[in-house]
Amino acid sequence: MAVKVGVLALQGDVSEHIAAFQQALRSAGEADTGVVPVRRAADIPLLDALAIPGGESTTISRLIDKNAMRSPIERFEGGIFATCAGMVLLAGTVDDPRVSPLALMDMSVARNAFGRQRESFEASVRIRGLAEPFHAVFIRAPVVTATGPRAEPLAAVDAGIVAVRQGLHMAFSFHPELSGDIRLHRMFLDGLRR
Ligand code: GLN
Repeated sequence: MAVKVGVLALQGDVSEHIAAFQQALRSAGEADTGVVPVRRAADIPLLDALAIPGGESTTISRLIDKNAMRSPIERFEGGIFATCAGMVLLAGTVDDPRVSPLALMDMSVARNAFGRQRESFEASVRIRGLAEPFHAVFIRAPVVTATGPRAEPLAAVDAGIVAVRQGLHMAFSFHPELSGDIRLHRMFLDGLRR
């Protein structure tokens, strides 16, 4: 059976996430037919994994509540793959009261943490579990300012922690779906099978 990966399709770079997961599954010789956009709360419990894309965390936070998705996401038993705005949403605490985070990962996050001069940039980042550095695309990115005991930092730059794993969940400040490099998607999918 094809692994079922849903990409939360309320706002943000949904099609890029779908394409990256399809590529990651195909590269491992697996069926890519189970990767779908998610627009209805009722679809969430049927998934093995949920991706929360980049976009605007203030907007996605509001749309999660408007679409009655908060409780299905909080109770979701699969893995969550969160990038940029998605990382902000998984945090326990966020430095912006307009975001109501889902508190699914034991971390504090600061939005737009790189300042105006460095709003968008690319950098080579060493990530625990990858043999070679990852070419990371940062777009008005958050950083993790603190982690609790259950969250494992996987990568950091000068400004702070930029990749975290906790159980089945992974969160990134940057956009692995935009690099054409599916190693982090593979790491996440491999984690689901343990
Ligand atoms: N700055 C955005 C936020 O905090 C995230 C940007 C992104 O997802 N590329 O919501």
